Amino acid sequence: MSGFAPLALTVLLIFAALFGLVIGSFLNVVIYRVPAGIPLTRSSRCPHCGHAIRWWQNVPVLSWLALRGKCASCRSPISARYPLVELLTGVAFVVVVWWFAAALPRTGGAWAWTIETVAFLYLAAVSIALAAIDLDTRRLPNAIVLPSYAVVGGLLTAACIAGAPWSSLLRAAIGMAALYVFYFLLRVIRPGGMGGGDVKLAGVIGLALGWLGWAPLIVGAFAAFVLGGVYGILLILLRRAGRRSAIPFGPWMILGAWTGVFAGESLARWYVGLITG
Ligand SMILES: [Zn+2]
Repeated sequence: MSGFAPLALTVLLIFAALFGLVIGSFLNVVIYRVPAGIPLTRSSRCPHCGHAIRWWQNVPVLSWLALRGKCASCRSPISARYPLVELLTGVAFVVVVWWFAAALPRTGGAWAWTIETVAFLYLAAVSIALAAIDLDTRRLPNAIVLPSYAVVGGLLTAACIAGAPWSSLLRAAIGMAALYVFYFLLRVIRPGGMGGGDVKLAGVIGLALGWLGWAPLIVGAFAAFVLGGVYGILLILLRRAGRRSAIPFGPWMILGAWTGVFAGESLARWYVGLITG
């Protein structure tokens, strides 16, 4: 199924896991600092006592476990979300590399495959950062969303230069425009339902899903509303939220997008089978 030898794939997945853990550690910094407007380049400090965090106190997951979730200096608790974000990013990177490794024969050679996979690893990292920031602050910062058009678009263009089909890039451009316009219209029709950040993120998601195919694009777009809708109904049934209380939609768009990436083709085939008998 895969174009990789089993040993090569195993080594690649171990590297993906370690790389994901390190990127996850950086995402914790992004999630905390970007909404607060703190520069990313400043060295890490304990938010309680200002103690400078040394590199051995900043090893993903392990340091948190060794310090038993407390600052080494003032012993104030460090949120379990830090190691969880690191673990989630590590797992996400393994799943993305494994998934794209299975698709190696359809891409235009090793370079195109590598660049395409990097584009989706970037998307995974941005997904985790944006979902966490939206849950925290109900905002999807332009500082993360807008450069993503250039990064994803640039990488996918480079993948075409390296041998991936240009038709994929055309489909990506159509997906970007279609999803952006769809969310823009939703925002016009029902102000207050969608945020401006949701509209901008929709274009990035359309770009990535369109690259993969029509089925991932359509399934990914609809899955956001299905997942968000089911959650909203559950909240109302549990009386945790009124009909009007704002539930951020960004995390559902992101979860929907990844449903489109991994299950788009199979869900579309199942649905077509259902209606055609
Ligand atoms: Zn401290």
